[in-house]
Amino acid sequence: MARWCAANGWPVHPLAAGRKTPAGNCPACREDPHRPADCPCLPAGKWCHGFHAATTDPELLAAWWGVNPSFGVGVSCGPAGLVVLDIDAHSAEVPHRDRLLPGIPIHENVNLTGLASGFDTLALLAALRGAPSPADDEATLRVRTPSGGLHVWYRTAPGAPGYRSSVGSSPKVALAWQVDVRAVGGYIVTPATRTSAGTYTPVGAARMPALLPDWLAAELSRTGHAPQPAPVRVPVPRPVRPARAASRALRLLEPLLAEVRACAAAAEGMAFTEKLNRAAYTAGGLVAAGHLAEPRAQDLLTDAAHAARPHRHRHSLTVIASALSAGAARPLHPEGRP
Ligand SMILES: [Zn+2]
Ligand SMILES: [Zn+2]
Repeated sequence: MARWCAANGWPVHPLAAGRKTPAGNCPACREDPHRPADCPCLPAGKWCHGFHAATTDPELLAAWWGVNPSFGVGVSCGPAGLVVLDIDAHSAEVPHRDRLLPGIPIHENVNLTGLASGFDTLALLAALRGAPSPADDEATLRVRTPSGGLHVWYRTAPGAPGYRSSVGSSPKVALAWQVDVRAVGGYIVTPATRTSAGTYTPVGAARMPALLPDWLAAELSRTGHAPQPAPVRVPVPRPVRPARAASRALRLLEPLLAEVRACAAAAEGMAFTEKLNRAAYTAGGLVAAGHLAEPRAQDLLTDAAHAARPHRHRHSLTVIASALSAGAARPLHPEGRP
């Protein structure tokens, strides 16, 4: 199954044997919380961090499932270009009618007797739009889950932006009560995966996802699933005490520190190491020329690095130490005098 998915261009990751949750992280990743983007395990070919590890690399597939044939298979929906409706049939208390289909008021005259699951809310939504329920869509891959739910798989057009994931109970972004959306930032259990509760089993004849129907794409956009640019975290400027601002050494160093701190706007890239290196090299020159105390330089650099890359603490300390000592070989005077 993993190989079949990868052949379709869908990145896969292992699920714990007999379960629908990802295989666990390594001890280092369990004990030291960090962003997947900063994790050394992923470039090293380990399966830490769930769907973040998903790959189509045949060698990794062979290594992962070859050694652990009882692992299930998850597909990372976003990079696979998949949108999967996860319809639940859990017994749960039916919420107020305003929360069944977010954004769509259901008139008091509509009789909701018998409404009990995501199958019902999705059918209601489809009926309002004059479309058949996706649960009955014979044209696409549908998978019965061990708990009596149904996964309805769709694909987006090649190159089209993905949709956001959501859970049907969310007050913010949801398609329908008891209908989860698995898309960007989510994964889906593949057919034939076996858990202690049963096997994920395709129903009907279709074995491939069909193109997402237009009406459903419109509903996903209406309900806030359309892709949104990642929020940019604007670094909060650190207050500068007048005594510090007066120092010419610090005036020289501050813009370089600001560039380091501004790397917080994105989780990776942005030439963080290069910028930290430049700031520390300059600080080393100022220390060597007697314009800045070494512990103070250490603090400023460590604070700026921590503001931008809190999870790369050790890396930052290494960069700072080596650039400080390299800079010390070239004493630096703020006015540029020798
Ligand atoms: Zn790890
Ligand atoms: Zn990790």
